[in-house]
Amino acid sequence: MSMHRTEVECVVVGAGIMGVSAAFYLNELGHDVVLIDRKAVGDEASGRNAGSLSLQNKPYPIIPLCKGGIVTWRELETEIGGLGFTQSGGFRVAETDQEAQFLERDLQERNRYGIGVRRLSVDEAREMAPYLSRELKSVNYCAWDSYADARVATQQIAGAGAARGVRIVAHTPVVGVELHKDQDITVRTTGDEYRCRKILIAAGIWTKQVAGWLGVSLPINMRINQMIVTPRLPRLIQHMITHASGNLTLKQVECGSVLIGGGWPGDGDLDKDIKLPRYASVVGNAMAAVRVVPALADVEAVRTWAGFDGRTEDQLPILGPIPGHGNVFLASSCFGGYVAGPYIGKLMAEVMSGDEPGMSLAAFSPQRYAGGGREQGGGVS
Ligand SMILES: Cc1cc2nc3c(=O)[nH]c(=O)nc-3n(C[C@H](O)[C@H](O)[C@H](O)COP(=O)(O)OP(=O)(O)OC[C@H]3O[C@@H](n4cnc5c(N)ncnc54)[C@H](O)[C@@H]3O)c2cc1C
Repeated sequence: MSMHRTEVECVVVGAGIMGVSAAFYLNELGHDVVLIDRKAVGDEASGRNAGSLSLQNKPYPIIPLCKGGIVTWRELETEIGGLGFTQSGGFRVAETDQEAQFLERDLQERNRYGIGVRRLSVDEAREMAPYLSRELKSVNYCAWDSYADARVATQQIAGAGAARGVRIVAHTPVVGVELHKDQDITVRTTGDEYRCRKILIAAGIWTKQVAGWLGVSLPINMRINQMIVTPRLPRLIQHMITHASGNLTLKQVECGSVLIGGGWPGDGDLDKDIKLPRYASVVGNAMAAVRVVPALADVEAVRTWAGFDGRTEDQLPILGPIPGHGNVFLASSCFGGYVAGPYIGKLMAEVMSGDEPGMSLAAFSPQRYAGGGREQGGGVS
């Protein structure tokens, strides 16, 4: 099979939530875009996550990014549809006195970001949500909290982009990126070669590898998180549920399945592409779910699975051009990358267009790693 060389304005590497959203908005801003993934669209973290779009369980510095995420999710649901986006409101629950005290302090901090978290008595919460346990100690409520259906949403956004002109090249790994002296970039895949003006590397945990080819070293650590799902059930849970300890998320998506998660660790190997649920995590997660929503005790788990996630040490994402090359952009490794993902895609499209982004990305710049990073002349041809 002969290799083709294609000229294109922008290449996006990685068709997770960040990549598909960036491609969608780049197209909307009038740019010619090729979106490349080594697997199917949304096959990694973005198709395997819990779909929790909560503002109550995120580190404070990324609340504005996640709030923008919920606004963008809502816009995309209206424009495209079929994302399973539901702004249900959400409860963050405490099971111990210590957790209840934490939630009281947390409310003060969180409300500095204008998200209107309210403290409820357990009785008040149970009036809104009778399925919650009577044994809870306290409950915070936030009307922003939402969820989406991670099993379909990334593909839906990609499909809408493709219908408007984004060219999607799936099942095709990018194997090399070369920077030219005229600032153009060549992106080599196992199939064709693309010469472009701008590139966005939105390759999830693999961003570390792709940036490494350009001599940029990024301190992204791998995490393996896992999920449990129930069969389709009659409507039981109407809200997004999170936990003061951070180890439980619950919601019942449109089709009736309850998704149970909370960052419980799985096992696996990135190089061998193995990700498996860990039994102790399945048990711990299910027990936490049953303590908070006792009716789940009688429900089966139909499936468990795990996925790779990437996190920086400061928990902040890496967003912006790499030091020394203004046409190579990174978007990766966000705590809450799914809730923030569509907004990150939109912001990156604005930055790549040379526009002022909707919010400052200065705190998230790859520049913060410049000292440890770029090797002399790395990857420039
Ligand atoms: C089990 C689990 C539960 C989670 N729950 C939540 C949650 O409830 N809420 C939340 O906000 N976040 C959650 N997260 C985190 C969230 O899923 C991620 O932050 C987010 O999906 C990352 O999106 P992404 O587009 O950066 O990366 P990914 O979805 O990982 O996409 C990266 C893409 O790049 C592709 N790629 C990699 N290398 C190459 C290459 N060389 N060539 C071409 N393509 C390449 C991959 O195939 C992949 O499709 C969870 C994560 C997991 C694993």
